[in-house]
Amino acid sequence: MYLSKDIVKEGNQILKNISTRVNLPLSSDDLECAKGLYEYVIVSAIDELVKKYGIRPGVGIAAPQVGINKRMFAINCTDFLDEKQTKYAYLFINPTILSKSKEMVYLPGGEGCLSVDRPTDNLVTPRHFQIVIKSAIYDFQTNKIKNIKMTLTGYPAIVFQHEYDHLDGILYTDKMYSLKDITCDPLYTIDEDEDEEIDE
Ligand code: ZN
Repeated sequence: MYLSKDIVKEGNQILKNISTRVNLPLSSDDLECAKGLYEYVIVSAIDELVKKYGIRPGVGIAAPQVGINKRMFAINCTDFLDEKQTKYAYLFINPTILSKSKEMVYLPGGEGCLSVDRPTDNLVTPRHFQIVIKSAIYDFQTNKIKNIKMTLTGYPAIVFQHEYDHLDGILYTDKMYSLKDITCDPLYTIDEDEDEEIDE
């Protein structure tokens, strides 16, 4: 599993490169990377394991963030605004965004990133509210690759777009604005003194 020492930080050229498509079936190196990424986001959601491994928890991590310029990333997040609290735990390989809503939203607390250590308070990143994506995914139960098409809305859509940007060498810090400079709405509203930070 990847640990804190493996995470590539802002300023490193690897995070600026456009990553290349992953050949399928996966090579053993790519499979090891895929498993490591997925494990990182699964472990991130379990407090005791986060402590045990001393990692910074994240809801998403992309291959470039561990020094590999290949088009894959893992997410593990819950759509906390959805009544059903749907969970999104996937390892995406060669994802494509097929369509994007015109409506833009931003996370009210701003975004965070395992590769960015500086505070970016009061700066937000507009994202498409809804996207339709297609991707290969690795199914860790059957150890098989599946092709999926899905619509993502709200929080999971934001997480996906943040990770997808990593594959094109873009960090959320490249797309940050202060609130006075944008016109879109927050995804939800939070109490002023309740600070929200979610790392991706
Ligand atoms: Zn990130």
